[in-house]
Amino acid sequence: MKITFFSTQPYDKAFFTRVNQTYGFELEFVEAQLNSTTANLVNNSTAVCVFVNDKVDKAVIEQLAAKGVKTIALRCAGFNNVDLDAAKANQLHVCRVPAYSPEAVAEHAVAMLFTLNRKTHKAYNRVREQNFSLNGLLGFNLHGKTVGVIGTGNIGKAFCKNMLGFGCKVLAFDVIANKELEAAGVEFVPLIDVLQQSDIISLHCPLNNQTKHIINSETIAMLKRGMMLINTSRGGLIDTRAVITALKNGVIGYLGIDVYEQEEHIFFRDLSDTVIADDTIQRLMSFPNVLVTAHQAFFTDEALEQITSTTLRSIDELAKGNNLSNMAALLV
Ligand code: NAD
Repeated sequence: MKITFFSTQPYDKAFFTRVNQTYGFELEFVEAQLNSTTANLVNNSTAVCVFVNDKVDKAVIEQLAAKGVKTIALRCAGFNNVDLDAAKANQLHVCRVPAYSPEAVAEHAVAMLFTLNRKTHKAYNRVREQNFSLNGLLGFNLHGKTVGVIGTGNIGKAFCKNMLGFGCKVLAFDVIANKELEAAGVEFVPLIDVLQQSDIISLHCPLNNQTKHIINSETIAMLKRGMMLINTSRGGLIDTRAVITALKNGVIGYLGIDVYEQEEHIFFRDLSDTVIADDTIQRLMSFPNVLVTAHQAFFTDEALEQITSTTLRSIDELAKGNNLSNMAALLV
């Protein structure tokens, strides 16, 4: 049985090739993103394996189904890039990796928070230039601050626990309150309270019709002046233009983003010799109080190991017509 991988990077190849020794599938690695043109590259594969920026819309799904593909395996948690209705209509299974080391993403959000606050990236460069001055590096104590968490699933829960450990007051908003977190001291409150009271807000909900642009000019108007916004979830959660206005007028004092609305044209590539035509990301990168990382929050050894083993196990179980060991992995 053959599996075609799209958007393949060298580390995908290394991890999947090693874990596949248990399964013996034929693996085909394609660097291109999946779209209606590259779908033609699929030949005799029963499964395709895709990542966050592959475009798995109705047209692509129909092409894949016509080529005999039975399973679309997402090697990630989010699935906003897949038309699940079209997959169902074409009798394709869609699976994902629902929870792989949520700590990996939560800890990256913490890393962004501290980098923005204590300016370690600036200090690193400064000291290398033999500039030992502290001017401009003033930070704040995280201890005692109010941290708002939007979405308290696997990653949001890990982030809440990190923040409790730092002695923060943690406010959370989710469609379902989490009893374990409540018992640990997290207060579940309406979204407006999170927006109005938090010194730092971290987004951990999925991108869907309810959450698209959850940070927009109206919700920004409720924020504490000078607050910090961290987004390691999906770029579409924030209206980037409204956020740029808020950075210019000081309502948002710090912004850390590991995801960006138009990231599929930029992230996961070396564009160091390219003129980037996207003025919005260029503007964002020009602010001294903005930190952009290129969708690397998941990128730890432990997370890649779990992503790889869960993905191949799900493909194997679906091919054999078995129930999935992890039913939350099955979307369709
Ligand atoms: P999860 O499904 O475990 O948790 C999502 C939580 O969001 C759930 O508790 C859900 O009830 C809540 N939610 C849903 N709709 C909401 C709404 N309208 N308002 C508030 N809360 C809402 O998912 P997870 O594993 O914690 O992942 C969260 C997101 O992180 C994923 O959807 C994905 O987009 C993103 N992610 C990013 C990276 C990265 O490398 N940057 C890696 C993994 C996941």
